Amino acid sequence: MNCPHCNDSDTKVIDSRLQLEGQSVRRRRKCEKCEFRFTTHEKIIHQIPPIVKADGRRETFSKEKVLKGLQNACQKTKLSSSEIDDVVESLQGMLRDYPAKEVPSKLIGEYVMEKLRQLDAVAYIRFASIYWDFNDIEGFVTSLKNNETGVIGATTQTPQ
Ligand SMILES: [Zn+2]
Repeated sequence: MNCPHCNDSDTKVIDSRLQLEGQSVRRRRKCEKCEFRFTTHEKIIHQIPPIVKADGRRETFSKEKVLKGLQNACQKTKLSSSEIDDVVESLQGMLRDYPAKEVPSKLIGEYVMEKLRQLDAVAYIRFASIYWDFNDIEGFVTSLKNNETGVIGATTQTPQ
């Protein structure tokens, strides 16, 4: 990093401190030429690409929205709230590493379904039956708002 004072490129880190639980680092630097001291701040950028819905509209990923939808779908199932958190955390991790500039919204639904399938059959079937009717997470969350008991109550049977 160049010196902001004389623009020389020969600057040296004289102190380095981790902050925010290791998510950011603050460095004191010194210019070898003019001795000017300055501070830099380095942060991890967690970036999730925009979500593209079936109709082509784009939206920003909302962790809260997905979490809310899952919590509703998983009520009275064996899934604990920490397991639900784990599903959403793992979804976010997948989205951060997603190798394209946009994420199709159906990928989110499919990913969550696959995770639920591994965890609990009842939660999986509830989520899947509601999800397939709407085919995107947005419709899914809206349906839960409008139908706090109806839709979910009708689809909780586990197949024999
Ligand atoms: Zn300098």
